[in-house]
Amino acid sequence: MQTKYVVVMGSLMSGMGKGGITASLLKMLQLRGYNAVPLKFDGYLNYDCGTMNPFRHGEVFVLDDKSEVDMDFGMYERFMNKDLTNVSSITGGKLFSRIIEKERRGEYLGEDVQMIPHLTNEIICMVDEAAKKKRADALVIEVGGTVGDLENGYFIEAMRQMASMHTVAFINLTYVPVVDAVGEQKTKPAQLGIRGLMQLGIKPDFLVCRSEKPMEERTLQKLALYAGMPKEHIIDDSTQHTVYALPLHFMDQHLDTMLLERLGMPQSRPNAKQLDTWKSLVARIDGQEKKVSVAIVGKYVYLKDSYVSVKEALVHACALNNVRLEVEWIESEELENGKHSPDELLGAADALIVPGGFGKRGIEGMITAIRYAREHRVPYLGLCLGMQLMVVEYARDVCGLKDANSSEFEPGAKHKVIALMEEQRGIRKKGGTMRLGDWAAKVKSNTIMRSAYKASVVHERHRHRYEFNNRYRGLMQRKGLVISATTLDGTLVESTEWRDSFGIGTQAHPELKSRLERPAPLFAALVREAAAPKR
Ligand code: GLN
Repeated sequence: MQTKYVVVMGSLMSGMGKGGITASLLKMLQLRGYNAVPLKFDGYLNYDCGTMNPFRHGEVFVLDDKSEVDMDFGMYERFMNKDLTNVSSITGGKLFSRIIEKERRGEYLGEDVQMIPHLTNEIICMVDEAAKKKRADALVIEVGGTVGDLENGYFIEAMRQMASMHTVAFINLTYVPVVDAVGEQKTKPAQLGIRGLMQLGIKPDFLVCRSEKPMEERTLQKLALYAGMPKEHIIDDSTQHTVYALPLHFMDQHLDTMLLERLGMPQSRPNAKQLDTWKSLVARIDGQEKKVSVAIVGKYVYLKDSYVSVKEALVHACALNNVRLEVEWIESEELENGKHSPDELLGAADALIVPGGFGKRGIEGMITAIRYAREHRVPYLGLCLGMQLMVVEYARDVCGLKDANSSEFEPGAKHKVIALMEEQRGIRKKGGTMRLGDWAAKVKSNTIMRSAYKASVVHERHRHRYEFNNRYRGLMQRKGLVISATTLDGTLVESTEWRDSFGIGTQAHPELKSRLERPAPLFAALVREAAAPKR
């Protein structure tokens, strides 16, 4: 079967949840037994997300194959329960560098290289390559940004051209606001969005309407008229109790059936077992009486997108453990210079997480939080930076190395218990140069790691430059710190633990592989511990 294409574009503004819609479309096709593959266009000129600040752009997501991609990939993987690859990410930076390389090789000899057709052809070529490589039945393409932006204009034009070569269904995500004074749903912004797309030569097949409350009959009729499509093709995307409910909400509106019809794909039946599992997991999210409160102490907490995988891994772990999640976001600087006492900010927490991060700001506040957790036996999970700071705290307070630090924050510290990895020393380039992607670790028996993973070798994703300094291994182990996992050759420490209470730091980012159908083992263990009756 020839690959079919679905293109998701947003009009009016960003932040309406295009990623969730794309992930839901992928899930629906997957439930019907199709090999659905995502593709994301990002118009920015960075080669990838690796050099972006999470505070501006949200979390940098890492795949097994070491690529540093947009956080939407996290959403796709969490829905699909499938490991994706770099092929699915097409950025402006990648595109332009391919064009320039070709031009230098003389592949356009004699021509002036233009946006149309050279750039647009290159996009179509990359899309075809992805379809072929992944043997996709359907490629679901999310166009980053908003229709009308300069950045993604060439992607949209390429998609318009592609529609004359392949079967392409266009989905327009739009916003239907409710103006408080009248309480009426307003369709004008959506109309303008459709008009914007039509001016670019694209007539959407489906209109997905983001709104706070369910679409009213009047609104549907009006939009159907303006969009020139059957009313059934106007899809309600009103707020659900969890984003994971979206595929079910769309299936209730028969979007999957209509999409298959539009693409000329056979109407296979949804896999009943997988659908039931998904339904029961969705029902378990937020449904319980028993609550677990998890404090996340980080430096990017004002932008929740910076830690989206951590939050979602907790959602998965809570669904598994049948508890309701409550997250306390704590800006680590609030714990510095006596602004707030840890008791004040952490006293009610059932568990603590210190997530990944870079740079010196807020570090001491995180260390204060970790000390509080160790001394008060609050279950603790440290992720990458969170493991490194767990080591610093232990070195300072238990091993008596008062000025212990990471050389990332205090290059002149006497006891650099966390130091730059050997192979990182000569590296000056910033893009794609960290220790990235999937790495194996061997796990010691009788540890939190072992009981969480129930395996002696585990694979998780990484993204770091600094590491536990092996010179301090002996001393810190003698003082009770448990080194529960290392790389297979034993050279790098992969996880550390407290001996007397539940505390585990991992050099990896297990949150990146957590899925609703397969929660990350360490998060599951943390939540289980947090929900257990207090000692
Ligand atoms: N900044 C630390 C390092 O580079 C931690 C990185 C992280 O938390 N992802 O090793």
